[in-house]
Amino acid sequence: MDKTTELTGIARELGRDKFLARSSQYDVDGRFPVENYADLRDAGFLGLTIPERYGGLGADYATYAMVSAELGTWCGATALTFNMHNATMMWSGFVADDLPMSDADRTIHNDRRAAIYTGVLEDGHVFAQPFSEPNSAAAAGKAPFGTEAKPVEGGFLVNGRKHFASLSGHADYYGVLCTLAGDGEANVANTMFLAIPGDADGFSIDGDWDVLGMRATASRNLKFENVFVPDTAQLLPVGAYYNAARDWPHMFMTLCPTYMGIARAAFQFTCDYLKGDIEGGPPRSSSADSPIKQFGVAHMRIRLEQAEALFLRVISEARYKPTHIDRQRAYAAQYTVMETANELCREAIRVCGGRSIFKHMRLEQLYRDSRCGSLMLPWTPDTCVERLGSESLKDWGTQAGA
Ligand SMILES: Cc1cc2nc3c(=O)[nH]c(=O)nc-3n(C[C@H](O)[C@H](O)[C@H](O)COP(=O)(O)OP(=O)(O)OC[C@H]3O[C@@H](n4cnc5c(N)ncnc54)[C@H](O)[C@@H]3O)c2cc1C
Repeated sequence: MDKTTELTGIARELGRDKFLARSSQYDVDGRFPVENYADLRDAGFLGLTIPERYGGLGADYATYAMVSAELGTWCGATALTFNMHNATMMWSGFVADDLPMSDADRTIHNDRRAAIYTGVLEDGHVFAQPFSEPNSAAAAGKAPFGTEAKPVEGGFLVNGRKHFASLSGHADYYGVLCTLAGDGEANVANTMFLAIPGDADGFSIDGDWDVLGMRATASRNLKFENVFVPDTAQLLPVGAYYNAARDWPHMFMTLCPTYMGIARAAFQFTCDYLKGDIEGGPPRSSSADSPIKQFGVAHMRIRLEQAEALFLRVISEARYKPTHIDRQRAYAAQYTVMETANELCREAIRVCGGRSIFKHMRLEQLYRDSRCGSLMLPWTPDTCVERLGSESLKDWGTQAGA
């Protein structure tokens, strides 16, 4: 059995046997999925994307995406928040391996990440990844981060605010993107990626998270007031994030698998509902044999297969310095999956009918969770369309193999 099949199989068992039953109550209560994280930890999944030579499971990008989509099928909030942890592991792991670095920086980075990975694997540390700030231009990649790290003896003093930080209050560390403060103007090339512990002096969490969908993600506000962070807390050397954002673009696509999973769940729900297999739902009725219902299901299936095909292709193309076409296809995939997830949930309600909109039906939650896919910076559907349009019309030479 190959690694992707094996790890996806474990994710399926966890999701089907444990996460699904808990998902609705987490949503109702707006409660972080603590028990799911304990199960992920027990399965060794906190080390899912940590390289094998550091003791992790060594999932590559495509394997991670498949596992994440599987988790998203059963509990969107778990998959979405688990992405924040894994994105930090991937950026400091195989993404960093591809980036140009001096030998000295490479040695220091290897030592630092070894310590971070040990904390994850041996002490169960979970990482959040707050980059969004009230000025969303930074998260959209259009301006330097407003959160600043000022060099001081032995490390940095961090000041600033983040919002929509999933895992607020539930992460051991917050992988904070910020700008190295210097004499000149703030510069995106000076972006830093720092691991700030949840119990650091000067760090606080505020605001509520009583929202439409993804209610169990605990995505609250963070404040950093003169938080001291040692040099060793750098998850990437200064400048590496900027290079990664430019040359490893698929690193921004890792939120998409969660919504691929939600799209699959919406389709499966519809089939189960019409067949009379949903607990608390109507019995199988003539509607399953109705050509109109079948037409609706077929249409959903076609949309799902289109999204799946693009998703599978793009996750296999993720790499350092992809071709222009591969990069553009990634924008198209992100757009397609994020929009299709919500479209399928909408269709599912229309096809199933009125009795599917009750709170005790999973579809109602899937519908709300799916709506959040369009909000995820930096690759919102709007951003993807903007880049796809402008980059398609650039003079790359030839579009086909560029
Ligand atoms: C469930 C959930 C979980 C989240 N978890 C996290 C997390 O863990 N970490 C994290 O960092 N963020 C997280 N986010 C935040 C998310 O990425 C956004 O930052 C958040 O939704 C707020 O952005 P907005 O829609 O208000 O931005 P808006 O400013 O309204 O942006 C909307 C659109 O405008 C574009 N835009 C914004 N500014 C500019 C500009 N200057 N130039 C051009 N285009 C621009 C954006 O790309 C987007 O298309 C989460 C969001 C949700 C919904």
